[in-house]
Amino acid sequence: MSTYLEFKQLLTKITDLNNVRSVLSWDQETQMPPKGGRFRAQQIATLAGMAHEQATSETLGKLIEQLQQDTSLDNIQQKNVALAARDYNRSKKYTREFVVELSQLISQSNQAWQKAKKEDNFSLFAPGLKKLVELKRKECDFLGYEEHPYDALIDQFEPGTTTAEVVALFNDVRSELVDFVKAINESAQPDDSFLSKHYDKDKQWELGLDLLKQMGYDFDAGRQDISSHPFTTNFSPEDVRVTTRINETQLDEMIWSCIHEGGHALYEQGLPVDRYGEPVCEYISLGMHESQSRLWENNVARGLPYWKANYAKLQSMFPDQLGSIDLESFHKGINRVKPSLIRTSADELTYHFHVLIRFEIEKGLIEGNIQVEDLPEIWNARYKEYLGVEVPDNRQGVLQDVHWSHGSFGYFPTYSIGSFYAAQFYQQAVKDVPGLENSIENGDLLPMLGWLRENIHRHGKLYSAREMCKKVTGEPLNFSHFKEYAWKKFGAIYGLSPELTA
Ligand code: ZN
Repeated sequence: MSTYLEFKQLLTKITDLNNVRSVLSWDQETQMPPKGGRFRAQQIATLAGMAHEQATSETLGKLIEQLQQDTSLDNIQQKNVALAARDYNRSKKYTREFVVELSQLISQSNQAWQKAKKEDNFSLFAPGLKKLVELKRKECDFLGYEEHPYDALIDQFEPGTTTAEVVALFNDVRSELVDFVKAINESAQPDDSFLSKHYDKDKQWELGLDLLKQMGYDFDAGRQDISSHPFTTNFSPEDVRVTTRINETQLDEMIWSCIHEGGHALYEQGLPVDRYGEPVCEYISLGMHESQSRLWENNVARGLPYWKANYAKLQSMFPDQLGSIDLESFHKGINRVKPSLIRTSADELTYHFHVLIRFEIEKGLIEGNIQVEDLPEIWNARYKEYLGVEVPDNRQGVLQDVHWSHGSFGYFPTYSIGSFYAAQFYQQAVKDVPGLENSIENGDLLPMLGWLRENIHRHGKLYSAREMCKKVTGEPLNFSHFKEYAWKKFGAIYGLSPELTA
């Protein structure tokens, strides 16, 4: 057997183990009976241990070393070897003691966080979080970085992106978005109260399935279920599952979660399936993944053309709730900008202030300039400064997100990066595909999907996020595209004068 084939078979085995583990996690969130939990945690840990053993094995290390010298490999094979080497070298930097200590601490901190959130008592979470921050600082040191320790953490989610780049991006957010949102807040607000009437859950479920079908989601390669937090998971490009949640008194929760997860799922369904097991069959980065969900959610489905196609049907499903609301009022209502406390239900503009606050705090914690004990005070002060809202308790403040209790530092910026990529990609798609928005207006979303498949999905991980963005749009990530999109859309909705939207 050739060395490359041996390498590919070993990676495929590791991929299989990880995907089987994902099946168990999906089942845990959607189907498992309550008593299943005790052994499920153990089963998942067993599979994770087996995958980790193979991924850090001498055998894999030797295969990679040999293949790095092999000049007969084609481009894609070389890329696979380079990506595998990167992962292998990184995982070799973790000692067994560190991995065990971190996973125990995460499990304890997560439980402490749940209790702290329930009882609205930050001091229950603080000691665990303090230890987690110390471990994360150690992790930065042994992973290594060029300029800033936080670089090592972002790199795990958004490979190649640096702290300096994120700082520059958020400087744009701050300097551009603060005044714009302020002007919006001072304008007359559209009515969105019709969204919180009563909407039957079975009808909502049917609607969600239709919206997914219309996007081109392949139900022969996936399914939708209900879970408390919507997510997408995949076991191969031919089995990509989504979940949604339904709130009978908030219609748009289901709509946005279906379309958002649908966007993630279309990306996974479009990855190069004949490369299953090889690193190039994977997604590029979390920011790139989020660009796919945000493009569908914000650029497509919060747009007027999308509802020109879909609103009459929605009205006929819910005549009592929406019969007297015209298309334009509906479109304005679903795009209402309103500074709020909770990130996950924020509108598409103020969302980025939520991320900015978390980024500034994480950076400060890793630098040692912010202490865990001071977090509630700092959190509340920044919410007042950037969003103008008073935080009434820590449950709706510093304790709202699960990420830190999982030890996920460096993750939050990828949410904003995703939205900014989405605006840049969408703008390019409109240029590349004549009549794209007319098709959307006619309910035909396949030209949109076709563009994403052709330009992004089918390449898998062959390019880095930076290379991909440049290849598709001719330039690196640039906030001005988001600005242009947002100013045009919200300027029109809020009737803002041209100098404010220039
Ligand atoms: Zn997402």
